[in-house]
Amino acid sequence: MKKNLLMLTSTILLIFLIPFIGAFSFNLLNGNPNPETSPKELSGNLSVSDKTLKIYNCSTQSTMEMNFEEYIVGVLTGEMPASYELEALKAQAVAARSYILSRMEYYNTNGTAAEHHGCDICTNSQHCKAWLSVEEANQKWGSDWSEKYLDKLKRAVNETKGEYMTYENQTVKAFFFSSSNGKTENAEDVWGGSYPYLKSVSSEGDISSPDNESSAEFSKDDFIQKLKSKFSDIEITPLLKDMIGDTVKTDGGNVKTIRIGGKDFKGTEIRSLFSLRSAAFTISVSDDNEAVVFNVSGYGHGVGMSQYGANFMAKQGKTYKEILSHYYSGVTISNFSK
Ligand SMILES: [Zn+2]
Repeated sequence: MKKNLLMLTSTILLIFLIPFIGAFSFNLLNGNPNPETSPKELSGNLSVSDKTLKIYNCSTQSTMEMNFEEYIVGVLTGEMPASYELEALKAQAVAARSYILSRMEYYNTNGTAAEHHGCDICTNSQHCKAWLSVEEANQKWGSDWSEKYLDKLKRAVNETKGEYMTYENQTVKAFFFSSSNGKTENAEDVWGGSYPYLKSVSSEGDISSPDNESSAEFSKDDFIQKLKSKFSDIEITPLLKDMIGDTVKTDGGNVKTIRIGGKDFKGTEIRSLFSLRSAAFTISVSDDNEAVVFNVSGYGHGVGMSQYGANFMAKQGKTYKEILSHYYSGVTISNFSK
């Protein structure tokens, strides 16, 4: 279901999670002559307004220019099923704005990314956030997609115009993902960086997702080969089940560490080695000792807002602000267009 959040590499995330350092004076959008929409200063002395953003389109390898709100419509298109409830889409719009702003602030402070080819942001979901044009969406989901959904996405963006989240006057790094195992994760358990607003909370709606459970099977040789790519001296026993030892879980219920073949693997390492949908998994060995099966719950890294959970809350009548304050503890909704 969630198309694009899954494969952010840990390297990129680690770089991104390094706290912002110092201030960097740079007016991103080159001033604004209209006093009514004069740019609001964000942390890192980044200014943003309705002026044009430069976006590097990774699929066409070209530069696009559009205003921030128009860009967010394309991010919503790429990042959340348009069939989701309006309040969930509004929560996603605010989360996407916050995430993108925090990313732009990071590059403002630390220098531009080569991936951006001189632009403010890019459309690579593994680097920034996915973005799809109306034409691409119609191609992907059928020619009537825009007729059915475009007005709804625009409404979600317009009704939250300029809104983003802050915590103690800092822009919130609003991570989000598809669905959890029933609880979200502490950021520090997944990437090491701790944020007061990225803490484990319940997300019980996720377990009702038809997509929630998945499995992945590997042959004995494949299993051992992948483990050896991390620890070449791993201890291999005649019965595979004897290699699999104790699991330590995170507050959110993902695998924090698991002992296999006498080595301690992080749950996130196993997720990456075996391309699992999440780090909430159990391992079983076939009776003939020839195959290993991972049973996995949830989809994504588990930090921040669960999109499926947001939709579940919206269906129960919660507003986008209630959804956001549930998944991002203690945040304030700010607005850069006022
Ligand atoms: Zn990027």
